[in-house]
Amino acid sequence: MRMVDCIDKKVNHEELTHEEIQYIVSGFVSGDIPDYQMSALMMAIVLNDMNEREAADLTLCMALSGDTVDLSDLPGIKVDKHSSGGVGDTTTLVVAPLVAACGGTVAKMSGRGLAFSGGTLDKLESIPGVNVAQTIPHFKDIVRKIGVCVIGQTGNLVPADKKMYALRDVTGTVQSVPLIAASIMSKKLAAGSDAIVLDVKVGSGAFMKTVEDAKRLAELMVKMGKHLKREVVAVVTDMNQPLGLSVGNALEFREAVQLLSGQLPAGDPLLEVCLLLSTHMLLLSKLATTEEEARAMLQHAIANGAGLNKLRAMIHELGGDETYLTLEGMDSLCKVKRLVPIAAQEAGYIVSMQAELIGRAAQVLGAGRATKEDTIDPAVGLIMHKRVGDKVEKGEAFCTLYVNDEANLEDAIATMREAVFIGKKPDSVAPMVYGVIR
Ligand code: URA
Ligand code: CA
Repeated sequence: MRMVDCIDKKVNHEELTHEEIQYIVSGFVSGDIPDYQMSALMMAIVLNDMNEREAADLTLCMALSGDTVDLSDLPGIKVDKHSSGGVGDTTTLVVAPLVAACGGTVAKMSGRGLAFSGGTLDKLESIPGVNVAQTIPHFKDIVRKIGVCVIGQTGNLVPADKKMYALRDVTGTVQSVPLIAASIMSKKLAAGSDAIVLDVKVGSGAFMKTVEDAKRLAELMVKMGKHLKREVVAVVTDMNQPLGLSVGNALEFREAVQLLSGQLPAGDPLLEVCLLLSTHMLLLSKLATTEEEARAMLQHAIANGAGLNKLRAMIHELGGDETYLTLEGMDSLCKVKRLVPIAAQEAGYIVSMQAELIGRAAQVLGAGRATKEDTIDPAVGLIMHKRVGDKVEKGEAFCTLYVNDEANLEDAIATMREAVFIGKKPDSVAPMVYGVIR
């Protein structure tokens, strides 16, 4: 087999066989296939696409390119979730313990934030003592004991994705639906769960900028689940503004604790998206038979504190000080030197936001990293006081910055002013959920 023939096939709109895809992935991981040939092939895929069977084969070959986690000796249906990234998106800290509180089993590996988007691991580490680097046997022991654990990706999981992603990033080949689907699903497959709920974000703060693209990605991943014998449900949700009101690590953790303490009103977007994701996780776990039943179970676990207790138990197992997980305790972790409100210069309505810029404003204050080596300040970030469609008075704060280091304060203020567009008349507001695909 020769790589150049595989590239020729894709250039000529032909279908790659399973053997060819296997040869490409293993050859690229071993270094036998050079970057320039892989780049050429991926560009041909960007331009000429892949069918469902090719995408499923690519996913499987990528998933098996390194270590995989075997969860089969844990009891019950193991359910995972994945959000395709966003700003103020704190769903994992809510849904993982909430589903466990309803009897589910959630063994999840999460990532760190980079650039404008936050990462669950950084949020977990805002609680003193938490160690997200656990061995797989200890991770499984925690899941066995309390039904839930979230840790960092360990070892050599999906090396094909690490290498392909680094190359895609610099060759203009990120924007391919089958390549994104294979990247996401290979990591989910290698992580070992039986059922997966995917939250595909669409909008100014997401990878997918149009609803059509997001739905196509969601549909492809659900179909790939069938090929790969995993139960997959995908929801397509809005990322044209931050999902929660908080952006920053301890700040987002605090909002998760507020949610699990029953402090967020019905209809709150973070609450609604968390309930939607965990409803589908309970249905896939066969712990509920209807959406109404699942939702009632989840609301009960918020009202009686069972979800918050699961999150406390998980923090304790990860070595963290779970006594911080109260409303007062979380306030103490969000203490900063200066609170800087940003006021509207004219009265009007919030017409639109650029979620990516809001993430960037929090990042320059120290909530995120510009490079992998940067350290983050868990307490800093920002709180939004308004959502798209809200009225704002002249001089009224639409957001408050949480600041420790003032070096980039002017930059953060300017970025926020650019990110939030205030107009005379309200515009239409995007829906929170665009669809559920199963
Ligand atoms: N997230 C991933 O994990 N991979 C992609 O290719 C895009 C988003
Ligand atoms: Ca996220």
